[in-house]
Amino acid sequence: MTPTTVYKEPAPRVANTENPLESMMSRFNVAAEILGLDHETYEVLKAADKQIIVHLPVSMDDGKVRVFEGYRVVHNTILGPSKGGIRYDKNVSLDEVKALAAWMTWKCAVVDIPYGGAKGGIICDPTTMSAGEIERLTRAYTMSMKDVFGPDRDIPAPDMGTGPREMAWIMDEFSKTVGQTSSAVVTGKPLVMGGSLGRTEATGRGVMVSCLAAMNKLNMKIEETSVAIQGFGNVGSWTAKLMFDKGLKIKAISDISGAYWNDNGLNIDDVIAYKNAHGGRIEGFPGATPIDPDELLVSDVDVLVPAAVEDVITEHNAPFIKAKLIVEGANGPTSASADPIIYAKGISVVPDILANSGGVTVSYFEWVQNKQGFKWSLEMVTDRADRIMTDAFEKVFAVSQKYDISLRIAAYVVAIDKVAQTYKYRGGY
Ligand code: NAD
Repeated sequence: MTPTTVYKEPAPRVANTENPLESMMSRFNVAAEILGLDHETYEVLKAADKQIIVHLPVSMDDGKVRVFEGYRVVHNTILGPSKGGIRYDKNVSLDEVKALAAWMTWKCAVVDIPYGGAKGGIICDPTTMSAGEIERLTRAYTMSMKDVFGPDRDIPAPDMGTGPREMAWIMDEFSKTVGQTSSAVVTGKPLVMGGSLGRTEATGRGVMVSCLAAMNKLNMKIEETSVAIQGFGNVGSWTAKLMFDKGLKIKAISDISGAYWNDNGLNIDDVIAYKNAHGGRIEGFPGATPIDPDELLVSDVDVLVPAAVEDVITEHNAPFIKAKLIVEGANGPTSASADPIIYAKGISVVPDILANSGGVTVSYFEWVQNKQGFKWSLEMVTDRADRIMTDAFEKVFAVSQKYDISLRIAAYVVAIDKVAQTYKYRGGY
């Protein structure tokens, strides 16, 4: 990769913002301009197909009824049934769900899988709720979405605050409404009830595969490359483990409880064992020096992997980033206002809609297996997922070279072009 030193792309239309919808739209606008997207298609794609807001009364353990607000946003279905996770968090907002739904459309288009994009969310704090309360909430949400969800309509999956347990409840509740077992209505299910081998590690694996593909273009050698990873949950810990196994030196890691540095590289197997023995947190990990969590993002490493939350790389810390390569495990970790700074510094970024799409790719494999009534081996899953990730990276890279644009904008160009072309063929407004 030969990073240009001048930021040649049109400036994002939104100045610094913490609003993920505006952040997403500013990149979409730049890509639409480069593509010369016609006005009609632009108007279709900038808005979600539908947004559903529900209020769900749930019996709490103390005998009182609480009403929760939930959302499902279906951004687009031109490429196929919509796909997207469900987030349980007290900070869920409709704007956030709208942005995440659109990201799913672009993500599925980038990796060329036949899905549209959707996302759901419920404003709740699952950490303060009992399993029974979460189950009743999940079943109420599923019932309210019985005409939205469907194996050929809209297929939910886990996101922050949800996992295989919630997916099992969704599958069960939906199956009751249609009077037959409907495995393919949801992905991320427990293995015993139709989940796919390789799903748990799929996103981290895709981050690792796209990182190696980018390093190859930048002539970075595995044995000479150091990495800092923010977030040590599903994505961060699997990325760390798979990079560590490949021989990359993971010098810094963090989670919500703290950040740690080891100049000789952390032993990630030890960190995972420590985390598992300490309530899922890395706080107090021995054999490493505690550092300021904000320092991690600007630490002296070659590769930075933000794999926690949105908007952590902003115009305030971007000027101080030392990494040559950023690989976005999280959704939306970089504010749009940081893009030109990062580009001008010659830092390459493998964007979220490409880097973390290994998860939805294996979710797609789960759905295919459910429809086939057949289980694939782990080798089959990983070989196919790795190939999809590598092909997608090469396609995005070629577009970035063609237009002399960042990988991020190139990923949007690839995705929007595929969706826009499909609209042209299908027609029928
Ligand atoms: P998770 O809940 O398993 O882990 C999140 C991790 O981030 C935890 O270790 C938490 O302690 C840490 N964290 C939270 N706030 C932090 C902060 N301010 N600083 C440092 N660490 C912090 O979630 P996950 O599934 O790993 O998802 C992480 C990100 O990746 C999210 O943006 C999610 O949307 C995205 N993503 C996940 C998947 C998937 O398959 N899980 C797929 C695509 C994208």
